[in-house]
Amino acid sequence: MSAPAAPARSGAPWVIVREGEKLLDPAVLLTATGVRYQDEGPYDRDEAGVLWARWGGRPTGRPRLGDAHGPRQRRALRQLLCQGCKQPADRTADGTLWLIEDDPQGGDAWPEQLLTMHPPTCQPCADIADRYCPHLGATGSALLRVRHAEPADVRGFLHQARPGAPASRTRTDFVDFRYPLVRFVVAVHLVVALEGCTIIRRTPPRTCDTNPR
Ligand SMILES: [Zn+2]
Repeated sequence: MSAPAAPARSGAPWVIVREGEKLLDPAVLLTATGVRYQDEGPYDRDEAGVLWARWGGRPTGRPRLGDAHGPRQRRALRQLLCQGCKQPADRTADGTLWLIEDDPQGGDAWPEQLLTMHPPTCQPCADIADRYCPHLGATGSALLRVRHAEPADVRGFLHQARPGAPASRTRTDFVDFRYPLVRFVVAVHLVVALEGCTIIRRTPPRTCDTNPR
């Protein structure tokens, strides 16, 4: 008896959060110049001085699709690793391979300077995502060559002081690295701007269920 044909990579993408992992919530102190951890260590900030969220647990259990693990997402973007299998992303003279949601209304310049949290990909993992990823199945996808991915924003928790009330945190979408406001964010995910983009193929939304059984 033979098993049905399976994708080359088994399981969910490497960057996806597993049930055994969680975002930690250590005490954050709000100062006039930004936020810091009460017990801050040398690995809590990056070279730009941005404070990064801490994660606990182990990558075990079911994947939480749609939610990327912060340190793996950031490492994949900085080292250009495939978000699916952790191997080096596919690269040619035209740039690194990227798979993103398609935007048919994006205009002639699209996706130049597009902001994304998606790390790059290898060719086999791009093919798997185009066949099985529920999100890309709904939006359609564009496979690109990208010459440079410039760190642009962080997504994380913005901390603000309110008169007469303790500091509160709110989830925020994007804060530009260049803005002083970034000092008040506990960053969760890195956002890059895609530069020097060439579209290789576009895959339309899937209309039927092609999820593996
Ligand atoms: Zn891969």
